[in-house]
Amino acid sequence: MTSYWCMWCTLHPLEWKRYKENQASIVEEDQRPWTVDLNNETLEKIRTGQLKEARDKKGVVSEHVWPFIEPCNYIFPHLHLEIGVVNMVLENFYGFVEEQVVVVSLPQGCPHYCHTHLPTRQPPGE
Ligand SMILES: [Zn+2]
Repeated sequence: MTSYWCMWCTLHPLEWKRYKENQASIVEEDQRPWTVDLNNETLEKIRTGQLKEARDKKGVVSEHVWPFIEPCNYIFPHLHLEIGVVNMVLENFYGFVEEQVVVVSLPQGCPHYCHTHLPTRQPPGE
């Protein structure tokens, strides 16, 4: 299961993020709870080429590691959520820096930019 999709149900990420507002407009088949059997059924359709679009695959990529534990019994992975949130903040920060920083060309032959390459002031009168 990819981390983009819900680990408990088959809702599309855009749907579960606005579930309370859009609940009535979502088809019942799209809001089924995951079971080990439903995962395996979806995986079989992917492998036989019946499902090709990411929206239809619903994040299924493999069999369950422990097929004797139903997804409804999974505990929410707080550590992974926190790592994901920090990664999102970092990615946004790096994107912001990339947008804001202007790359300055270095003087020819200089491997780094330092004060020795700044233009020097000429004393008045010279
Ligand atoms: Zn869900």
